[in-house]
Amino acid sequence: MPELPEVEVIRQSLTDSVGRRIVGVEVRESRLRKPVDAMRLCSSIGQEIVGLDRKGKYLIARLSDRRILVLHFGMSGTVRLVKGAWAWDRHDHVQLVLDGDVRWVLNDPRRFGLLWVGSESEAPELSRLGPDALSAEFTAPMLFAATRRSKRAVKNVLLDQRVVAGVGNIYANEALFLASIRPSRPAHRLSRPAVARLHKALCATLREAIAAGGSSIADFRDGRGRTGYFQLQFRVYDRCGEPCLRCGGTIRRAVHAGRSSFYCPRCQH
Ligand code: ZN
Repeated sequence: MPELPEVEVIRQSLTDSVGRRIVGVEVRESRLRKPVDAMRLCSSIGQEIVGLDRKGKYLIARLSDRRILVLHFGMSGTVRLVKGAWAWDRHDHVQLVLDGDVRWVLNDPRRFGLLWVGSESEAPELSRLGPDALSAEFTAPMLFAATRRSKRAVKNVLLDQRVVAGVGNIYANEALFLASIRPSRPAHRLSRPAVARLHKALCATLREAIAAGGSSIADFRDGRGRTGYFQLQFRVYDRCGEPCLRCGGTIRRAVHAGRSSFYCPRCQH
């Protein structure tokens, strides 16, 4: 959390910033997942934001000097877009001041986020990412090939950012329910049609969540302070003990690799 849909919702809420110039940077708390290098960040002053992209759970602002500003929101981060007068709020760590009296304020209570500026080729972590889950490069045959190489539980393959970028625990659980596949199922035992079903379910779930403004658990808000409402549409996630929406059976919770899996034992095999 935030996963692909939430980061996409943040990105969409900030697109007005494209065309604006960075005129100031202030770091109040540099101790994020990796320390924020304030000097390096200040080298972005004077650059214009020429594009706003996303890869997996990373938000990428493209600068006029061809470098990129990369943001990752960890467990609890977001960017708040502020116009005009403002004051630091609790857990606000960094502000980027843009022309036109606009700011991006990075807020991250748990401080697992990341903020970095530099050339794309040396960006930490980006090069190790697989294709974005909603990109044309991520196909059912590609996912099938990845499952052949893995005896891990299928849910852990979906969570592996080197296989597919952007999927976290919420949407992996939801997609596996839609595809009627149990999260603990060894990936290499899935048939080709089952993987195709899973690929389709995953893309549909992510798109549906973006349309709903993301999931607002852990207080998620987009850049304009709006909450998402996909959490009201969870079919299995966080619904342990509640009835399955498909068969009326009871949703169960199990822990795999330290993460909770939610599934219907009757519908998912
Ligand atoms: Zn069921």
